[in-house]
Amino acid sequence: MAKPKKIELEPPDHKRCQAEKPNGATFMTLGGVPGLVRCANVPVVILTERNPNQKDGAIGCMSLCLDCLAVFHKQMNMKHYTEKRIR
Ligand SMILES: [Zn+2]
Repeated sequence: MAKPKKIELEPPDHKRCQAEKPNGATFMTLGGVPGLVRCANVPVVILTERNPNQKDGAIGCMSLCLDCLAVFHKQMNMKHYTEKRIR
C-alpha cells in the first residue's frame, strides 16, 4: 500500500493554545537540555499562514492565547499570517 503523499496537518485546537514555550529549565538543571512545554491557556485567535510552506506545500495554522499572540506579534512578521478571532 502506498502512503498518501498529502500531509495531514494538525487542526487548530480551539480549547488549548498551541504555542510551545521554554519550560524554564536551564543547562544547570539535572536532566540536561531545556525543553519546550505546551502552553495551557485558552486560545483567542487562530493564525493561518498566507502562503504554503515552501518545503511541503502545506498551509500551517495554530491557535494562540493572548499572551502567546503578543509574543508572536513581537517575533514574527504578521504580514505572512492571517489572524482570526475565536473569542
Ligand atoms: Zn499560549
